[in-house]
Amino acid sequence: MSFSHLGLSDKVLSAVAAAGYTTPTPIQDQAIPHVLAGNDVLGIAQTGTGKTAAFTLPMLTKLEKGRARARMPRTLILEPTRELAAQVEESFVKYGAKQKLNVALLIGGVSFDDQDSKLVRGVDVLIATPGRLLDHFERGRLLLNGVELMVIDEADRMLDMGFIPDIERICKLVPFTRQTLFFTATMPPEIRRITEQFLHNPIKVEVARPASTLATTTQHLVKTGREGHEKRATLRELIRSAEGLKNGIIFCNRKSEVASLHRSLVRHGFSVVALHGDMDQPARMAALERFRRNEVTLLVASDVAARGLDIPDVSHVYNFDVPHHADDYVHRIGRTGRAGRSGVAITLAASADTKSVAAIEKLIGQSIPWMAAPAITVVDEKPAVERPRHRPARGHDRRPAPQAKRPASAPSQVAKPKAAARAETPRTAARAAEAPRTRDSEGFALPAFLLRPVPVKA
Ligand code: AMP
Repeated sequence: MSFSHLGLSDKVLSAVAAAGYTTPTPIQDQAIPHVLAGNDVLGIAQTGTGKTAAFTLPMLTKLEKGRARARMPRTLILEPTRELAAQVEESFVKYGAKQKLNVALLIGGVSFDDQDSKLVRGVDVLIATPGRLLDHFERGRLLLNGVELMVIDEADRMLDMGFIPDIERICKLVPFTRQTLFFTATMPPEIRRITEQFLHNPIKVEVARPASTLATTTQHLVKTGREGHEKRATLRELIRSAEGLKNGIIFCNRKSEVASLHRSLVRHGFSVVALHGDMDQPARMAALERFRRNEVTLLVASDVAARGLDIPDVSHVYNFDVPHHADDYVHRIGRTGRAGRSGVAITLAASADTKSVAAIEKLIGQSIPWMAAPAITVVDEKPAVERPRHRPARGHDRRPAPQAKRPASAPSQVAKPKAAARAETPRTAARAAEAPRTRDSEGFALPAFLLRPVPVKA
């Protein structure tokens, strides 16, 4: 089966050929003819199935007729995160290369004025996160009554992020006669209610989660304790001893955990960036770009920030925390083992995670084998020895602090040269400038004088 039978325009077909796609994915095959026919579509599909092109390609074909008017976008795509919105914009640039369409992105963390001037010029495709869209609307900068087609993407993620009231409001602001395309990976009751309220006789298109991910990804559980420093030590050893690690994503359940794990890995000399919702937009984009370009080996991320991101060919996924929702496990490990490549997904699990692990195993219909936990030496994460503020009182033990023993594991495969790793944060750079210093086995800076043996009088 080729793209030519789907009813797409010649311009779009040549852009598809230029992108190197020869065969439509199941969601594209099933959804595109209905989108072109003007039907509402309820697509139950997750990322990795080719769903972005399933709505982008027919939209481009439809947009060839007609023109945009100032402040009145012709089509609207709602995305839960800025990264996903930016990724959809990239798809329009890629597939719409032969068309002169105005595409605008309304996301937080970017200047209102730049976005406003784009709206004035007239927009064919408006891609937005719900909050920023409503901000522009409330300022009277945007009219939604010209929207002919609306896409709600990753609806279940919108639900997780508390966007459903915004979505309901937006659905009431766009004309009743519009066409709606609605994509979700799962169908919780709240999402079902929204589809019943806002879709008109939708064509339901459901595609199975890509089996390739589960088939080509080796999954393991590793026993760990609950304590953060123990988990971090286990993770470090897993990374150091990983076979064939090219690049990896480490998932945490909370944003604060992403930030602290990132700091810890940097301190231990790993080549790593972080991605979480509290970072500003340029920092998020820059981190993602560095990871995509293989400038760094590891990305620590939260589910929300990483959802749907198109990062091809990730060799390893680490779940630093067992996800609370079993669905998230599938999304996370779906980052590896893509397009038939082999991948490894390792989940750190404590005894308190038993229920969550059982829910995951039930969802994926298989049990995940345990692998032997690596030997670790747990050290206090605070710098082992601080520069003493006062001279210790006479008679106090002034012997150097004992060095932590290095675990008997394979040498680091991903640790950067220390100088490069130090450049990652101002604090580590400042520390590096304090000479003479050396480091203990866990990477903490130790002033050299503390390592000199001190004669102790009997
Ligand atoms: P998505 O599910 O939209 O995030 O797409 C996942 C990946 O599949 C993206 O990297 C797309 O570029 C790629 N893709 C989409 N459609 C096709 C296709 N028909 N053939 C091959 N790759 C595709």
